[in-house]
This record gives sequence, C-alpha cells and structure tokens, in this order.
Amino acid sequence: MTNHSQMFSHKSYNQDLIEKVAQGEYQNPNPASMYNMVVVGAGPAGLVCAMACAGLGAKVALIEKKYLGGDCLNFGCVPSKAILSQAHRVQELSYFFRDQIIEGQCRVNFSHVMKQMRKIRAKISVHDAKQKILDAGIDLFFGEAHFESKKSLRVGKDVLNFKKALIATGSQAKTLQLDGLSREDYHTSDTIFDVDQLPESITLIGSGAISCELAQAFASLGSKVTIVTRSQRLLPKEDEEISHCLEKKFNQLGIDMHFSSRLYRYYKKNNRKYLVYEKDQKTYDCSAQELLVCIGRRPNINDLDLEKAGVLYTKQGISVNEFLQTQNKNIFACGDVLGRSMHTHHADAQARVVVENALFSVPIVKPKKKYNPKYFPHCTYTSPEVAHMGLLNHSAKRKDLDCIRINCQEVDRYILDQTEEGFLKVWVDSKSHIYGVSMIGDHAGEIVSTLALAMDQKIPLSRISSLTFSYPTKSEIIKKAADALQRKKLTPKIQKVLRKYFLWRR
Ligand SMILES: Cc1cc2nc3c(=O)[nH]c(=O)nc-3n(C[C@H](O)[C@H](O)[C@H](O)COP(=O)(O)OP(=O)(O)OC[C@H]3O[C@@H](n4cnc5c(N)ncnc54)[C@H](O)[C@@H]3O)c2cc1C
Repeated sequence: MTNHSQMFSHKSYNQDLIEKVAQGEYQNPNPASMYNMVVVGAGPAGLVCAMACAGLGAKVALIEKKYLGGDCLNFGCVPSKAILSQAHRVQELSYFFRDQIIEGQCRVNFSHVMKQMRKIRAKISVHDAKQKILDAGIDLFFGEAHFESKKSLRVGKDVLNFKKALIATGSQAKTLQLDGLSREDYHTSDTIFDVDQLPESITLIGSGAISCELAQAFASLGSKVTIVTRSQRLLPKEDEEISHCLEKKFNQLGIDMHFSSRLYRYYKKNNRKYLVYEKDQKTYDCSAQELLVCIGRRPNINDLDLEKAGVLYTKQGISVNEFLQTQNKNIFACGDVLGRSMHTHHADAQARVVVENALFSVPIVKPKKKYNPKYFPHCTYTSPEVAHMGLLNHSAKRKDLDCIRINCQEVDRYILDQTEEGFLKVWVDSKSHIYGVSMIGDHAGEIVSTLALAMDQKIPLSRISSLTFSYPTKSEIIKKAADALQRKKLTPKIQKVLRKYFLWRR
C-alpha cells in the first residue's frame, strides 16, 4: 500500500493541491523571540485557531509536518464526500436506466471519478493554502514539532518560545493486528483515495460511519462489496431502527454484511485476499481483490515529547479540562487529538473556545468559555443520510421523554423524489422542548441541523407548528412532527370539551 508521502508522487498526483498545501520550495522563517500563540498541526482545529488569533493581532506561529488542511482536506471529509457525491448520482442515474426513462447502458469510468475528486479537493484547498496563512501574518513552519520545555517547542533547528500553545495534531487510522496480515496487505482511509482502478471486489472491516460511506460508494460505482464487523449492526452508535433501515438499503445494493464476526486469520491466494472469521461458533471465510480497514482512529500523540511540556495524556488522547486546557495551563488541546467526537465541526468549535480562553485569560482573569457539545449534530453521508443530535433512544426512554415519529413517506416531497425510505424521530419533554433528534432519510443532515437551532435556542417543537414551510419541501417533515405533537395534546377529554363547544356554536 502507498503511504501519505508516496501519495503525492503518484501518477495522478495533483500538482495544484501540492503547490498549495505542501512545503515545496517554501523556506521556514526565522522565529520571533516570543509568540503569543504557537499552534501545532494545520488541520481544521489548528487552522481555525491560528487564523483567529492572528486576526485579533496576536503573534502566531503554525507548525505542520505534512500537508496544510490536515486529514479533513487531504484524506478525510473532502475526498470521501467528493467520491460519495458522484457515487450517489450514479445510483440515481441507474434508476433512470432501470425504469427505461433513459435507454441504453451506462458504464462508470472510475479513474474519472477519482480525477474529479482530486480536482474538487484542489479547488477547496485554497481555504487552507500557504498563501492564505502567510497573508494573515502567521509565521508558518513545516516540520515535526517536539516540546523542549513547558514554554518552548522545537521544529528542526528552530526553537519557538510561546506564552500559549495549542496541540491540534489530529488522529490517524488504526491499523489491524491479525494473524498473517501485514500493513502492505490492506488500505485504510489514509491510502484508499489514491487508487485509480475500481476494485472488482472489496472487503471492508468495520461498520462505523467511514466504513458505511466508503462501502456504499464502492458498491454504487460497481464493486462487489462485503462488510465484516464484530458489531451487531451498521452504525452501532446510532438508533437501532436506523441501522436496520440502512442495512435494508445496503442489501438492495448487493452489499454482503457479516455482523458479530471475530476475525482470526488472513491469507492471500491467486491474487485474492481472504479473511477467516468466526461467527456463532462456526468458521467462515470471504475473499476480495482489495481490503479496506476502517476500525477507528487513534490520536497523534507520539513523538511530541509531551512529558517535557507537563501535558498529561492517555492512549485515548490528551486530557483537558472543560476550558480545553491541558495539565499545563498555558497549553491547550483540541480536535481529534482529544480522542472524543472526531468531527471537523467539533474541531472548529473547540478551536474557537481555545482562542477566547488562551488570548483573553491572564493570571487574575481565569478562562471563561466552556466547551459544551450538547447541541452538536452529526451526519453520516450515506444515501439515505443518517443524522443525529442530543439523546439517543435508550437514554430518552430512561428520561421518560415522548417520541414523535414521522415517516418520510408521509411527506409529499419525498414521494415526488421517490426517496421515501426513512423517518424522523424527535424526543420531547412535557413542555415540548427537544432533547434528541435522529433521522434517516434524504437530506437528514440539513433537517437535523435546523432542529439543532431550535434545541439550542430552547424553541419548543410545538412553536414550529405555527411556521410556514414551502410546499413541497423535505423540511416539511419538521412541521409534520410539530403538528403530530399538537395532535397528541388533544386528549380524549379535550376532544370531548371541544365537541360540546362546537355543538353549542351550531
Ligand atoms: C475518511 C474520513 C471521512 C471523514 N468525514 C468527515 C465528515 O464528513 N465530517 C466531519 O465532520 N468529519 C469527518 N472526518 C473527520 C475529520 O477529518 C477530522 O475530525 C478532522 O480532520 C479533525 O481535525 P484536526 O484538526 O483535529 O486534525 P487533522 O485534520 O488530523 O489535522 C492534524 C494535523 O496535524 C499535523 N501533525 C501531527 N503531528 C504533528 C507534529 N508533531 N508536528 C506538526 N504537525 C503535526 C498532521 O500532519 C495534520 O495535518 C472524516 C475523517 C475521515 C478519515
């Protein structure tokens, strides 16, 4: 398998991207004698913090060991969503052929899909490019950072002294230890975006968000896809009913799924990659041309010399308080390196908390801004999409909350678009305040984000009933949920009183 550094010597290497995000001919500057803020890692977390601090007038240094933009731009959100977007459109198109709305045959040109993804990635890279960072007045250093003391860092031959520092070194794909398997035998998300030939077949290990998205992308583009996982279902952290709805969709796409399976051996025969696994005390094997391991991510904490900086950490990530300060109060950490919710929007939100607490706290004014991810939605970009925010089914039930459920097939726009699979669940208390939202359905990510606003601003679901939505839109599902809640309030007793009232009015 290729690794990151080989990726950019690949034949389909994207010159435009590299010119913007890699060191190339760029020479590191001479360090200032003291920085207000030194940021380690130029992924979403590091970039947001560095740009905001510099914008406020602080003297900032940003250190990146590989590519500006981090995993999100180079190996994560951007390439995966660019491929998924094309894969979903191929699926839509195949409906036109199946129903003979378009006649003939369609064939996917996979290398063009990848070329398109690289073009889109290069286009988006302007937001994270060297020039933008330098224009903001930031001292940009390429190289690997190591702490020298509680107040200084080394990059190559340069020592950078700081008043405050941020560790935003992100995470990397976990590797798999399995009898017979070596690192060259499989891809992870770090290398899969470098392939140019569609594998005839591919086995994915794991059933979390990254695995589900990539499994559906490959299946939609024409690979025979198998998922093997020790979990009992797809997206094990989501509502169980949602997992089963997605499994139904994956079945229709011809994806083979093997749950509750324990891997115990790998071997290669006739150019095919075999996995031997155990399920219900029986042994099975499956084989494919390619193997993609998506079993989670681990924080990048090795080689930073955190002990010299007095920063505490565990295998799961760097330990921080609610203000995102490490054990060394002048050093903050945020993003994937915390090992918590590994999402770009969490990294972004955390970085904003760090800016406020790092720049505007002095010994007598303590940090004030707490990181509170209570109302953060997240989305898995399969088709249909899966989105969630707040409490999940089991904890909502424990709190005695009421569940309002609307199926997509009750909403005209879903019927018109023939995307009726899915549903929305909203958990509310007796005053109709929202505590949790789960949805599977087309545009679930956008719909749940709208409800995030209501949840954050404590707008009760019942109030949404008085809003007017354009017809026919998918957002009407929110209004339908609000209307359903209002109807629930019409108890038999109230209905009886109303009937008497209307009798009297006749
Ligand atoms: C396939 C895939 C799909 C994803 N899709 C989504 C999605 O749709 N939505 C979403 O919200 N999230 C998604 N994510 C997660 C998202 O990419 C991460 O949560 C996000 O990139 C975290 O940002 P970060 O700044 O913490 O770390 P990173 O983006 O990992 O950046 C950290 C940077 O630090 C650098 N670094 C590390 N060590 C050092 C050192 N010692 N010195 C200097 N530099 C160093 C690294 O080179 C890297 O550039 C996806 C991830 C993957 C893998």
